[in-house]
Amino acid sequence: MANTNDTIIELIDVSRQFDENTIAVDHVNLSVRKGEFVTLLGPSGCGKTTTLRMIAGFDLPTGGKILLNGEDISLLPPNKRPINTVFQRYALFPHLNVYENVAFGLKLKRMPQEGKKPAKLSKAEIDKKVKKALEMVDLEGFEKRSVTTLSGGQQQRIAIARAIVNEPEILLLDEPLGALDLKMRKEMQIELKEMHKKLGITFIYVTHDQEEALTMSDTIVVMSDGVIQQVGTPIEIYNEPKNVFVADFIGESNIYSASMVGKYKVKFCGKEFDCVDDFEQGELVDVVIRPEDIKMVPYGEGQFHGRVTSVVFKGVHYEITIMRKKNEIIIQSTWAPEVGELIGMRVNPDDIHIMKKAILSNKYDGYINKKNNVCFGDGEFECDVTQLYPGSFVDEEGYLITKDGKQIDLTDVEVNVEVGLHDIAMSDDPDEGGAKGHIISIIYKGDHYVYIVRTEENEEDFVFDCEDLWNENDLVSLLIPKDKIKLTLVKTEDEE
Ligand code: ADP
Ligand code: MG
Repeated sequence: MANTNDTIIELIDVSRQFDENTIAVDHVNLSVRKGEFVTLLGPSGCGKTTTLRMIAGFDLPTGGKILLNGEDISLLPPNKRPINTVFQRYALFPHLNVYENVAFGLKLKRMPQEGKKPAKLSKAEIDKKVKKALEMVDLEGFEKRSVTTLSGGQQQRIAIARAIVNEPEILLLDEPLGALDLKMRKEMQIELKEMHKKLGITFIYVTHDQEEALTMSDTIVVMSDGVIQQVGTPIEIYNEPKNVFVADFIGESNIYSASMVGKYKVKFCGKEFDCVDDFEQGELVDVVIRPEDIKMVPYGEGQFHGRVTSVVFKGVHYEITIMRKKNEIIIQSTWAPEVGELIGMRVNPDDIHIMKKAILSNKYDGYINKKNNVCFGDGEFECDVTQLYPGSFVDEEGYLITKDGKQIDLTDVEVNVEVGLHDIAMSDDPDEGGAKGHIISIIYKGDHYVYIVRTEENEEDFVFDCEDLWNENDLVSLLIPKDKIKLTLVKTEDEE
């Protein structure tokens, strides 16, 4: 991935851990080319700002290193790095005018000189640089204005001028348009892109807005939970999402659970389709199809069919919902059928994107407690301990009796716990289930949702399917039937 000649910034195995449970950035590897417009994209809290702060030098990695032009700068203070940052909150000085705001950093700057003490910039030099920076952001002539009289968009341009006046090699922008209204944001997106071209320097941009990322970037880095999910051009990210997280986060998607039923044959929505991805036969996979890639044809001419349940006009296209048994299919099209109509559908093999199923079951480390319950995932669940020793039973005192009559006290015995994706249910009574947490992710899969519930204490995740729609962030407790908790003994060394 790293090309030594034109790589400007390289993150090698970079981590930032804040405390035992908060790993904001988790073993990130990334290389950025000179002059590239790179965007870190992901939901709030995924580690974008922390990554940027480490590149800027405002924060230090707890693991790994950061190279600038091949040299380790991990411990270099921010003012020694040829990098400037534009923040969402513009942080202009309200008592200074536009000129003074832009010139502020330059007045403090000392230029190194051969054999002499570093020198201040002259007034003329500062004037020239400020003028150039204000031209770049289209605000020439605003020098004397008080920044408090400027609009949000103009203030943000001043903030950008203040960053580029230092002629950095890299400009970092952390959600710089987040405080602007939609119209202003769209205008600024175009202006920033033009500025990037004119300046010819590297931009590392942070946003949680996928559309912004898709329109502005050369390269998008999709992050979730401190981990890079995918790096690619906007087209690659959109057309070839690497997993369902990326597919779900970028654009609208139909996502289905599927299985490979032969070479280049995949089955979902109860039908077999030709596809172009080669996966092992029998493998469980996820299938992603973009709504614009499903073509509607007359009933009978399709590869599969369904009934139209809703048609919504979206300005440029219609969004059409079709039900095929229990599966929901979303289609974008410039023409619309009638609600209630039976319609055929076709999809090209190369528009069926197949990805390995991320998680096939939930696995935890656990132990048995005094009550012969199993503790895992920040909770306590009833279970069947006799599965640990085939043919055993539990006597009245709670000891396990093996099939050859041995009595075993299971208290504190460590076990591996496995729970299937279909074997967990939620309750809105936080005390009903064996563990509780907040819903942190909901992904729609046509006829059901995939939920992730994360516990508060140790951030243990429960991943499972459910047909009902709940709300993100809801506090729920988790119910698992006794016979669905699979236990195996943790092998100790002398057993191996
Ligand atoms: P993003 O910019 O993608 O929204 P951040 O990088 O700000 O995400 O945060 C990533 C994670 O690190 C979050 O869980 C956040 O709460 C945590 N975090 C960020 N800064 C600190 C800090 N100074 N101390 C403790 N936790 C932090
Ligand atoms: Mg942030």
